[in-house]
Amino acid sequence: MKGIGVSSGIAIGYVLKKEETVQKIERKTIEHSGAEMKRLNEARQTSTAQLDQIIQKMQQENRDEEAQIFEAHKMLVGDDIFFGEVEQMILKEKVNAEWALQVITDAYIKQFASFEDEYLRERQADLVDIRNRITKILLGIEEKEPDAVSDEMVIVAKDLAPSDFAKMDLSKIIGFVTEKGSKTSHVSIMARSYGVPAVVGVEAIFTKVKNGDAIIIDGEAGTVLLNPTAAELDTYQRKQQKLQEFNTRLQALKDRETCSLDGKKFTIAANISGPQDVDAVLANGGEGIGLYRTEFLFLDRDSFPSEEEQFTVYKSVVEKMKGKPVVFRTLDVGGDKELPYLDIPPEDNPFLGFRAIRICLANQELFRTQLRALLRASKYGNLKIMFPMISSLEELRAAKAQLKAVSAELEKENIDFAEDIEVGMMVEVPAAAMIAEIFAKEVDFFSIGTNDLIQYTTAVDRGNQRIAHLYTEYHPALFRLIQRIVDAAHQEDIWVGICGEAAANPRLAPIYAAMGVDELSVDSKSILKIRWMLNNSSCLEMEKVIAQIMEMPTAEEIEAYLHKLNERIELG
Ligand code: PEP
Ligand code: MG
Repeated sequence: MKGIGVSSGIAIGYVLKKEETVQKIERKTIEHSGAEMKRLNEARQTSTAQLDQIIQKMQQENRDEEAQIFEAHKMLVGDDIFFGEVEQMILKEKVNAEWALQVITDAYIKQFASFEDEYLRERQADLVDIRNRITKILLGIEEKEPDAVSDEMVIVAKDLAPSDFAKMDLSKIIGFVTEKGSKTSHVSIMARSYGVPAVVGVEAIFTKVKNGDAIIIDGEAGTVLLNPTAAELDTYQRKQQKLQEFNTRLQALKDRETCSLDGKKFTIAANISGPQDVDAVLANGGEGIGLYRTEFLFLDRDSFPSEEEQFTVYKSVVEKMKGKPVVFRTLDVGGDKELPYLDIPPEDNPFLGFRAIRICLANQELFRTQLRALLRASKYGNLKIMFPMISSLEELRAAKAQLKAVSAELEKENIDFAEDIEVGMMVEVPAAAMIAEIFAKEVDFFSIGTNDLIQYTTAVDRGNQRIAHLYTEYHPALFRLIQRIVDAAHQEDIWVGICGEAAANPRLAPIYAAMGVDELSVDSKSILKIRWMLNNSSCLEMEKVIAQIMEMPTAEEIEAYLHKLNERIELG
């Protein structure tokens, strides 16, 4: 099977299907509460039977620890006090069993969440598991038990939300395959940042696999092999070995600078989505953080993080980076990153809608809270601020005005923050690229967001698998726009980086470098590969390549030309 390889590497393991989470439960008024209680009790009995089967299987396989977890679930299902409350609600409010179960569980979860004891706090997850199991039975959704719990699991799902990752135990997950998604959907970005191979856009794979199937995925080529033959297994094991050897060689570049064969220096920074990613940046020789997607602190929770919480997190990141620059991008939600607690009505075109800086400018308090936290953290390291999705000068000025107002506020409160914080903007909307020379007079740096710049320039939704073949960083328009942005920046003596996924494309990195881009910000796992590419390229030679590219009329020609030019990178 074939999909889009979005995070390189080879995974050889076993399938674990990620079922879709239980859908939204509706409140319904019922006439006969007796019948509803009977439904609930039958569902409890069925779930006990399911759990018995799981426990038995685990015991047969000597997986005693896991069996104990399900024993605890069984006890919860048998808890008459808890289910008594559910029954009371059905009886008094004449509501359906699913609804009552949800309301009562939610109340308990809130209580559990406040426990000091970590073990007790963790029991929330068990409660959710039980609720989901019984709800599925009530709704007639077939429950498939994952019987492939091994240490080498490849998650196969229809789709994965960024918040799904937050809940996973990544120590046992060696790969991801999804039906939906594209190279720059956030699922792919997460997989790359965890350094786990991933293939997305594999049609109908979810229905074709069973838990426990042997699977091989090649995150570079986008290949997925189910139940491979011995010969296939051998081929991929060798490929995996070769990759590992190349990666070991790259380690020697960890503490070296990035410098082309003809002596031009560059910065290779990293993209992160939270403090948990910082160790990987340093371990891979990142010279800074070129894009901190702060929105991840806002996802997978029920309410906004407070100023204090944000401050603590931002401070920890700059401190850990010990004076190396960290570019904090202000909240970039909307599009495919939903915040359930920010009530945005559904839109026909979310990527063209209420997103990123537009949301922040319309929600002053939200924006100002983040800016306050950032300013306060600035004292502890080398912090820069960047605004996403700027499309007009008015927007940039409005954002800067908020920053100025917040600075004044802090001064008044005698709260210290760094002087001369660099303020930059993402150039990811074609309109901004076209008037880059105007923006360059009012910011300290540009960071080109190719993920969005491609989508907006070519009018191709970055997450739409059906048109993924039209989404390409090799489009001739892109090279022209990037050159334009770089020239505008340098005319005003400001630096310019690229933080979109294209920066991590080893075929393109030397081209961007020769175009004059000062910094490439990539996922941690790509830092050394990109450094190796630049160290082995000559800008003078690449300038000739650029002249050729600019003559080529199609993405296809450009891509084929660059592939041919650089066969050595097949190694990585
Ligand atoms: C981009 O658009 O290129 C970018 C880096 O931002 P994001 O992928 O978070 O939209
Ligand atoms: Mg973007």
